[in-house]
Amino acid sequence: MSQSITPQPGIMEIALYQGGASKVEGVSDVVKLSSNENPYGAGDAAKEAFRRASHDLHRYPNTDHAELRAAIGARHGLDPNRIICGVGSDEVLQMLAQAYAGPGDEVVFTEHGFAMYKILAHAVGATPVEVKERERVTDVEAILAACTPRTRLVFIANPNNPTGTMIGGNEVARLAAGLPEGALLVLDGAYAEYVEGFDGGAAHVEARDNVFMTRTFSKIYGLGGLRIGWGYGTQEVIDVLNRIRQPFNLSTAQIAAAVAAVNDTAHVERSRSENSRLRAWLAEALAEHGVPSDTSCANFILARFADADEAAACDAFLKARGLIVRQVAGYNLPHCLRITIGDEPSCRRVAHAIGQFKAGVP
Ligand code: PMP
Repeated sequence: MSQSITPQPGIMEIALYQGGASKVEGVSDVVKLSSNENPYGAGDAAKEAFRRASHDLHRYPNTDHAELRAAIGARHGLDPNRIICGVGSDEVLQMLAQAYAGPGDEVVFTEHGFAMYKILAHAVGATPVEVKERERVTDVEAILAACTPRTRLVFIANPNNPTGTMIGGNEVARLAAGLPEGALLVLDGAYAEYVEGFDGGAAHVEARDNVFMTRTFSKIYGLGGLRIGWGYGTQEVIDVLNRIRQPFNLSTAQIAAAVAAVNDTAHVERSRSENSRLRAWLAEALAEHGVPSDTSCANFILARFADADEAAACDAFLKARGLIVRQVAGYNLPHCLRITIGDEPSCRRVAHAIGQFKAGVP
């Protein structure tokens, strides 16, 4: 007789994460515009620091990430003691879910919010609560209306992925002030660096005890392959998270590359300004081909098609030409394609191909 071994409640509700392909069979000149990666790669300083770290591979890494926290703190004007580092910001989000939500608790996020929020809610046995947006923009009123005394975490990405839209500081403040007792607002700033002069929500963390901010090295720093992220919150929340953090979660190489990256402001500046220039160019080029998009604050745009069939057909058309973009059906946006802002030749290629598709070129 076989005995069934059952997972924790909620686990089987999780759809397997669909990783982005980077190859197309039979096409050699492939451009991947599906994972919001930096088209210019990592900066030279980070690459060199990574190489140097290879001399010490037999040593365990520092467990407290003091050097990296100090570098991040100095760069952003934050208290290093209130920073925690993780294996991508995904791990910081995971620690928050593990520490603060469980069976009977509610985790709130928006209908087109980042996929990990729902996965994490299920993973810890909490109830995911998906809130409607207003035309692909986070709706603070709707979030507040959805909160209950059982709400423990409210996740919003600002700018949001995959919509690219963001809400202003007053809206965020209103959300934080209106949350029920015992709920923590998590401001996911994965794309914050793409917004000139934006602090990612740090001022809200300083202003209120119920706000936490997460950030990543995967996007503008071009270190998605290395997996480094961080969070900023009250001392109390950071102390809680450090109790469940694996002591050696970041490797020596991750720490070294991140320290170099955070100090390489020229690479960040160049990446931001090229992204802004090409994002505006691409949005306009697509609009001229009859493909609208919302004003994006991030390193991608969400191109809207007539319906899901047209979006899928365009996706296939682009793929056949070596252009990999992202279908966002899993985000309740089946009529949209998310396109990462690549370098100039990639932007021109994707705009040209979408123009051909819209013109009915076979
Ligand atoms: N938040 C958002 C909104 C994202 O889009 C991503 C990456 N897709 C992440 C968090 C996680 O990024 P990472 O784990 O690479 O830091």
